Amino acid sequence: MTNQAFVANLYHAPIKGTFDYIEQACIEIDGLGMITQVLSPNHSDYTQLVEQHENNSSLTRLADHQYLLPGLVDLHTHAPQWPQAGKGLDLPLHDWLNQYTFPLESSYSDLTFAARIYPELVDTLLAHGTTTAMYFATIDSAPSEYLARVCKEKGQRALVGKISMDEKSMCPDYYVESSTQQALSDAEAFIQNVNEIDAQQGLVYPVVTPRFVPTSTKALLEGLGKLVSHYQCHVQTHASESDWARDFTEQAYQKTDVELYNETGLLTRKTVLAHSIFLSESDKETIKSVGAGIAHCPLSNMYFADAAFPLREALDKDLHVGLGSDLSGGPLPSIFHAALDAVSHSRVREAGTNTHIMEQRGEANTRVSFVEAFWLATHGGGLTLDLPVGVFKPGYCFDALVVDSNTQGSQVRVYDDLDSEQDILEKIIVHTTEPAISSVWVNGRKVK
Ligand SMILES: [Zn+2]
Repeated sequence: MTNQAFVANLYHAPIKGTFDYIEQACIEIDGLGMITQVLSPNHSDYTQLVEQHENNSSLTRLADHQYLLPGLVDLHTHAPQWPQAGKGLDLPLHDWLNQYTFPLESSYSDLTFAARIYPELVDTLLAHGTTTAMYFATIDSAPSEYLARVCKEKGQRALVGKISMDEKSMCPDYYVESSTQQALSDAEAFIQNVNEIDAQQGLVYPVVTPRFVPTSTKALLEGLGKLVSHYQCHVQTHASESDWARDFTEQAYQKTDVELYNETGLLTRKTVLAHSIFLSESDKETIKSVGAGIAHCPLSNMYFADAAFPLREALDKDLHVGLGSDLSGGPLPSIFHAALDAVSHSRVREAGTNTHIMEQRGEANTRVSFVEAFWLATHGGGLTLDLPVGVFKPGYCFDALVVDSNTQGSQVRVYDDLDSEQDILEKIIVHTTEPAISSVWVNGRKVK
């Protein structure tokens, strides 16, 4: 690839709580897909840059009513659960895992089954504008490595984890590691193999992935912590997802999940904790001091969390936080939808729901705005992963999407005389469905 440039009306959120809209911005990208310049028309070099790329036939101009946004970051999704999306959501977490999830996940030991599902899922997420996804795969190494290869081939930035789960009393006998030692050697081989799939290219990364505390022995957590320290790789797991999950750790260890993960070396700058509903003040301090992050999965929380995640407080405390679809605890593959859900979730939390209580039904001042949700879906996600994605600036990867309003199939309707810049952004968050996303790039490569 050689240098190329785009002239586009763009939205991004360099600063949490605000957004930038630049009309007719010129973004230049180098041959590796990295952004080298972002100029607005009043910049002195703007005309020259545009003309240079026009003369080289390396300029793409977006049309009116097309909006360039950073690609979306999904911090928490279970690739193998895609066929389960929308099923069994009336069950509590423990029953849902045993009746639906574990039997389905075990099917992927058959690679032909994996080949039926994973390419379609990755295509689906890319089509919805998810340029970076952090995936839980399954406990089997071969299909989990296959998922990493699929992401690489299709051009999605992906952080992929082979699940580690060895606590025999909490796992079905058909879906559990044969021993702690085997679990650790498989986890290490997985890291090495995924590093080989994408040597030096920065697209696909291995992730150490203990499923959650109940399915892990302490020896497993400690052993995985040593791998993290040795390979400096990302970590993902579930933390304090529900009353049951929280109580399990309290009873088994007299600790919180965050305390246990920290003590076993699993809490680092590159750790993503899904959910984290019930955090103590000291947990939040620990997460902040380590620089670990949280994947907020609002739709999944509504089904499985028993409570609302204190997103307002996490934002105000400057914790690293972004959004997750949590397929299939959350049944929808869209991070635009997750952004809408995050706003709705916070509004219900603020207002409260119990009509038998006449005053102080909710928690005052806990709403988050659409602009904040946009930051979470893009820049917040990149920051959480410690990757240069989610915002348009030099040195960042060109991961981007185009929302095409006013075309057939798009529900985003923009009325130039009625809509402000912020109105349009809010409409994009609320109304963007897959057909409205006309193009997607990852690392400067067009993938839709
Ligand atoms: Zn999950």
